[in-house]
Amino acid sequence: MREPANAERIVFLSQEPDRWRRSRALLLQHYNALDHFVDLEQLTWAGLDLSTLTPFRYEFVAEFAAGRAAHADRFPVIDPAKDRDHSLEWPGFLPWAIAEYYAKLQSQFSYLKTYERYGTPEEIANARANVIYVMGVMGHFVGDGSQPLHTTVAKSGWVGPNPNNFTRKDFHALVDGGYIAKAGITVEELAPRVAPAQPLDLAPRADGRDPAFVDVVEYLQATWRTVEPLYTLMREHKLDAVGPEGRAFFDERLLAAGQMLGSLWLTAWQQAAPDPYLQATLIQRQAAPPK
Ligand SMILES: [Zn+2]
Repeated sequence: MREPANAERIVFLSQEPDRWRRSRALLLQHYNALDHFVDLEQLTWAGLDLSTLTPFRYEFVAEFAAGRAAHADRFPVIDPAKDRDHSLEWPGFLPWAIAEYYAKLQSQFSYLKTYERYGTPEEIANARANVIYVMGVMGHFVGDGSQPLHTTVAKSGWVGPNPNNFTRKDFHALVDGGYIAKAGITVEELAPRVAPAQPLDLAPRADGRDPAFVDVVEYLQATWRTVEPLYTLMREHKLDAVGPEGRAFFDERLLAAGQMLGSLWLTAWQQAAPDPYLQATLIQRQAAPPK
C-alpha cells in the first residue's frame, strides 16, 4: 500500500461509495445510502441497547422494525413523496458496513497469503488488487464514522427539544469537507501526529458478540460524543472562520478516522490465517499440472 500506484488507488476508491450515491438507480440508493451513517438515537427510540447490538445485519433489521412499530410515536412521520428510495424508515447501517468490510478484507488477506505461497503471479496480482479495492472502499465508511453528523438524527441541524440553543440550520457540508478545505488541512501536516496502527481489541466478549463489531460500535459511540461539542462550536461561531478550536476539533476527528482505519487494516492482516481449502486445491494442482 505504500507503492505510489496503490496509495493513489486507495485514495481514489475512498470516494467510490459517494459516487454510488449519485446513481439514479433507486435500488442502489436504497442499498448504498444507508451504509454511510447511523442515527444512534433512533436505536434507543426503538428500544434497542447499543451494548447488546447484534453484529448480524438482517437480525438487526428485524429487531429494529419490530421496535419501530412498537414505539411508532417516537418516530417522525414519513412523507412517501420524499422517500423514493424507501430509506427513511431505517436508522442507517454504518456499524454493519464497516464490520462487514473488515471481515471481507480479512478473507482477502487469507487467500492472498495462500496464493503468495502456491499461486501463479497472475493470481497473486489479482488477489492484491482485491485487497487494495476493499482497503480503499472501506476507508470511506470508516471516515464517515468519525464525522459526528453521520452518527446522529441531528445530521442537518438540531432536531427536537433545544435547551442549548443549537443551530437548526443545515451545516453538514461544512463538516463533511468545507471547514477542512477552508483551513487547508493536509495529510503532510497531520502525518507526524499519526501513531503507528494498533491492533483492535479482539478479547472475547462475555455475550459472545463478534469483538471487531463491538470495537466498531465503540468507535461510533466515541464519535457520537463529539456531536454536542460540534454544535457548541457552531453556536459560539468558532467555525465561521478558521481558528484554533475549530482546527483542533477537525484534526482530532481526522486522526481518529485514520487511526481506526489503520487498526482495521492491520488486524485484518494479522488475523488472516491461510485459506485451507484453497491451499489444498493449489497443492493438488502443483502435483498434477493441467496438460
Ligand atoms: Zn459517505
